[in-house]
Amino acid sequence: MTDSKEIFAKISGATQDNEYFLPLPRGYKKGKTRYVIVMGTVMSGLGKGIFSSCLAKLLQDKGLKVAPIKLEGYLNIDSGTLNPFRHGEVFVLDDGMETDMDLGTYERMLDQNLSRANFSTSGQIYSSVLHKERHGDYLGRDVQMIPHVTGEVKLKLRQLAMGSDADVVFVEIGGTVGDLENAFYIEAIRELAYEEGPNSTCFVALTYILEPRTLGEQKSKAAQLGVKQLMQMGIQPDIIACRAENPVSEQARQKMSVFGNVPFERVFSMHDSASIYSIPGMLRDCGLDFEVIKMLKIEDRINLRHERKEWGRWCDFMDKIGRENQEVTIGITGKYTSVRDSYASILNALEHAGIQSGCRVQIKWIETTDVTGENAAECLRDVDGIIVPGGFGMRGMEGKIACVQYARENGVPYLGLCLGFQAAVIEFARNVCGLTKAGSREIDQQCPEPVIDILPEQKKIEGLGGNMRLGGQDVEIKTDTMAWRLFGKAESVRMRFRHRYEVDPRYIETLERGGMVFSGKAPNQPIMQILEIPGHPFFMGTQAHPELTSRPLRPHPMFAGLVRAAMNKKA
Ligand code: GLN
Repeated sequence: MTDSKEIFAKISGATQDNEYFLPLPRGYKKGKTRYVIVMGTVMSGLGKGIFSSCLAKLLQDKGLKVAPIKLEGYLNIDSGTLNPFRHGEVFVLDDGMETDMDLGTYERMLDQNLSRANFSTSGQIYSSVLHKERHGDYLGRDVQMIPHVTGEVKLKLRQLAMGSDADVVFVEIGGTVGDLENAFYIEAIRELAYEEGPNSTCFVALTYILEPRTLGEQKSKAAQLGVKQLMQMGIQPDIIACRAENPVSEQARQKMSVFGNVPFERVFSMHDSASIYSIPGMLRDCGLDFEVIKMLKIEDRINLRHERKEWGRWCDFMDKIGRENQEVTIGITGKYTSVRDSYASILNALEHAGIQSGCRVQIKWIETTDVTGENAAECLRDVDGIIVPGGFGMRGMEGKIACVQYARENGVPYLGLCLGFQAAVIEFARNVCGLTKAGSREIDQQCPEPVIDILPEQKKIEGLGGNMRLGGQDVEIKTDTMAWRLFGKAESVRMRFRHRYEVDPRYIETLERGGMVFSGKAPNQPIMQILEIPGHPFFMGTQAHPELTSRPLRPHPMFAGLVRAAMNKKA
């Protein structure tokens, strides 16, 4: 037997002659970790991730250790190959996992770095089952959806519970109850609840109460049917959270209570709110946090003194919102300008920076396919700062370079993110260093002066999935530079990356001679990671994605710097 077969046989408890199949991580203790499972009915897009992260935050504030996990229905192994225009941005974790944007919501709300243990897709589950099958780990059984695929899901949840040592694991099931592709997740958590025993799980059905304009009243039938569907799958919700445009009426909540077998005090109104930051307060005011704690019988684990302190910090942050006494407009160039979700982390990072500086940040989207050297001044006339965000491919690249030139020549604060860093290098090479034909190999294979070229390690790679330079890397900061001052004189910072191309090291000297300063570099390789131009009020580019690590109470210094520079420009 192979090693893995031996371990698996032991942990699964499976033998030739019983029907039980219970893969448990070694040393797993039932009851230590509780599970809150959030599922959506009626429709997708209800904000399950936001709801679940806010609820997790309230428990974390009470001193409980929480660990979220998102279970995706699709077969992709990760989100890296998904088009951000259709699915929202690809969020990159420190360990290099490319995930759904909801992981960004969890990281921001919980101020916690997550890992691949916090993210699962059907593709990962199936591929692991198939791998074990080839290995002979199933002891001659026919491999089935139940118990083997569901067993793999439960194993993943319990591994997270053990690895994170969490008091509560928050499981968010993607999509909507009734989708064929997530049905095995729902079956898996039904089994999990049974196996873990009473008070170990809390099922939350997030549903939607319709309010058709023509009727002018709230209608709960679709929500009732959604909950019924869940019950048909063997799950009795413990809590019903009703999303709606307006506060959900007592009558509609009563109906949900009667039809859903859920006591009235556990049917909550989760109506639209102006800002994600007010949702923890909303959940807290209606007592949802304590209902969950009661259901899970973990009252003895909470620390109210810790909560008072954490809640105080959150309230101080909330107090700043809406009291901004200045406003700036940041222009963001990009390919996916019509979909805010494709730039979710950048918008969040700007918001964090704005709140910290008491400044409302307005966004102006700039479609760069229309921008040229001639009309850049006109297109950018009313912006106080410019961001060129990450991207792939050539569309709009010359327009982006024109925006960079305008920002550099006119003292407009500039922040280039990944592709925006590369655009800044190309612009500088062309217009300052005299390399008029400078460009990127990503865009033009035949480029005569490829100042941006493919990373050596990337040359051998074939296929597209999960193989860029990905995840957290250390960046060495040069002393006495703007980056060094922004990072509080740190010698090294950690940033997250997702790229294939870089500054070709052969051009570094020319660029530096022209006046560009590379203030952040990889410690052991000649990979340029932060650039700046001394003398400009704020001109900075980074090969990394600082937007991914900005947090509400800890805005990323680069965004904070950009917003402050935009405020100074406007003042
Ligand atoms: N397309 C560029 C590269 O692969 C930039 C990537 C990005 O902006 N995330 O290097």
